[in-house]
Amino acid sequence: MAPRGAPQGARASPPRAGILRRAAAARAPAGRAPPPPVPGPAAPRRRAPACCAGPGGAGRVGAAAAAEAAEADASSAGGPVELLTSDESEELLRIRHSTSHILAIAAQRLYPGAQVTIGPWTETGFYYDFDFPEPLVEKDLKRIKKEMVKIIKKNLKFEEEEVSAEEARRRIRAIQEPYKEEILDGILERDPDARITIWHTGRENEKFHWWDLCGGPHVESTKDINPRAFDLESLAGAYWRGDENRQMLTRVYGTAWARPEELEAYKRMKEEAKRRDHRLLGKKLDLFSIQEDAGGGLVFWHPRGAMMRHIIEGYWVDKHINSATHPYELVGSPHIAKQELWKTSGHLDFYSEGMFRALEVEDEMYQLKPMNCPFHVLIYKDKVQSYRNLPVRFAELGTVYRYEKSGTLAGLFRVRGFTQDDAHIFCLPGQIEGEIVGVLDLMEDILSAFGFAEYEINLSTRPEKSVGSDEIWQRAEAALEGAIARKGWAFQVDEGGGAFYGPKIDVKIKDAIGRKWQCSTVQLDFNLPERFGLEYTDSEGEKRAPIMIHRAIFGSVERFFGIVTESSAGDFPLWIAPEQVQILPVTDELLDHCHAVRDTLKAAGFRASVVTGAGLGKLIRNAELRKIPVMAVVGKAEFENGTLNVRTRAQGELGELSLEALMGRMAAAVAEKSVL
Ligand SMILES: [Zn+2]
Ligand SMILES: [Zn+2]
Repeated sequence: MAPRGAPQGARASPPRAGILRRAAAARAPAGRAPPPPVPGPAAPRRRAPACCAGPGGAGRVGAAAAAEAAEADASSAGGPVELLTSDESEELLRIRHSTSHILAIAAQRLYPGAQVTIGPWTETGFYYDFDFPEPLVEKDLKRIKKEMVKIIKKNLKFEEEEVSAEEARRRIRAIQEPYKEEILDGILERDPDARITIWHTGRENEKFHWWDLCGGPHVESTKDINPRAFDLESLAGAYWRGDENRQMLTRVYGTAWARPEELEAYKRMKEEAKRRDHRLLGKKLDLFSIQEDAGGGLVFWHPRGAMMRHIIEGYWVDKHINSATHPYELVGSPHIAKQELWKTSGHLDFYSEGMFRALEVEDEMYQLKPMNCPFHVLIYKDKVQSYRNLPVRFAELGTVYRYEKSGTLAGLFRVRGFTQDDAHIFCLPGQIEGEIVGVLDLMEDILSAFGFAEYEINLSTRPEKSVGSDEIWQRAEAALEGAIARKGWAFQVDEGGGAFYGPKIDVKIKDAIGRKWQCSTVQLDFNLPERFGLEYTDSEGEKRAPIMIHRAIFGSVERFFGIVTESSAGDFPLWIAPEQVQILPVTDELLDHCHAVRDTLKAAGFRASVVTGAGLGKLIRNAELRKIPVMAVVGKAEFENGTLNVRTRAQGELGELSLEALMGRMAAAVAEKSVL
């Protein structure tokens, strides 16, 4: 099974399952098509083996979530240290994954009876899931790390051995590792002819020799791992196979780098990330909640968060429908549809594990939607289309539902119900480049409004197995490249990394602390139009299939909201702050006056409120806790002078200002989309 598409999450995920086969990883297994197009964040460029990979763009989980790709300043090291993800550095990927093997060796040496399961690399490190006979506590990590250093210093070689499935099974049974046997079964189930490899650390019969069923890759020798550049970070519970009905395992998270300076810079960045965790800020600022009474991964938007969301979505809609060059038409679609539709689209065959179970309506089976694409296809199909009315651009903030295992849910980054800022463009082959430029322009326009002006662009090209003619692929790839070139952006090419149905562009943004987040995706699709028999009439009166483009800019509104929250640390730019200004009366006699001030602000379009009920000191403290951008204190003097005593989050005390002066400053900050 190819990696599943990313819902919310495009951050490269901590891969979810085992350290297994890398072969056949990125491509669809022979004879089977991968899931249909997934708009929104896409799979990381370097896909982990299919069996290891979480859903294509997973959310970030737990402690590892905070541990993102980053560039942090290492002032002490005399310059910035670039913190590369496993996606970006093959060397680091090998170091990280190999370190997970060392962790397993150490754990099994120190805790006889500990069973090993999976130990993949993550963006900035690795983890390993164990079944320990006795529960582990945090302080055990020190002991394990010490043992790991000892092992690393032995300069053990990593060596691959290809074995038959029977031989692998025999050896697994000999060392009594039932989880490994289940992993082997899983591989064979997916592909009975899969190449099975074992990786040895150290030579057989040597004291530290250890082996694992694994697809690599690894470093050549443990001496390639710097014992001062790795660390064990935390412990967490994780269900075997992410299934809450299975065994609860102990997950040990670690991080590994090439040099100690990188480890230090990473730790600083992580501290900063912790302070910005959107789950904590969401609670502190009363933006949203996820309630166990309702179920995991389902988001409740509180008034303040809902207001922000309304503003963000309103901006998005406005930019789409009012584009001067590439305007979209808004559409709306239902949340469920007949199962038959999902058969036609291919989702039921290739994406069923990401879908909730069907529900019965008058003897017919219906399906909650995991994607919006088939619905937009139906709208396109509902009328006769001519080449004259192409391109057709449909946009929808479409809420979708995907089955994510409970163990993988993480704040707004990985949820079960989320809103894609989805759009589909149906166009002529000759229109592709112009349309892609339009998408990239819009993307830049929208993302930069949130302060994200630096992008990392990745172009994924035709894989071995694909649908569509050579001609259309060449044309499409040239069009995508041409569009990026017209933007003047640097980009990387992932040769053969495209979906079987078309090439794509993925865009990562960089946040305030240098972390990169996969958000926007533009995906061409030569398959869905075929499946649904989409047509347009060309200039000769012939029926032809249009090119379909899936695209999302935020990816998921929920996830983007989380990114904005973390990037700003909750100090939102004024234009999206849910409550822009609080008016604080020194005494209640001034209430009427304060209400009048508020009404003037509101009439001018600002979100303002009057807060009373406590002493001024407390009111100010509360406003600070809520990170209210502007506080306007009104005492007797201000009342008499017709002023407000203003302080802002970003600039501190501004002193006495007239209401007009304050509104002028606020209007400027809103227009500039800056903080005040
Ligand atoms: Zn391995
Ligand atoms: Zn789509």
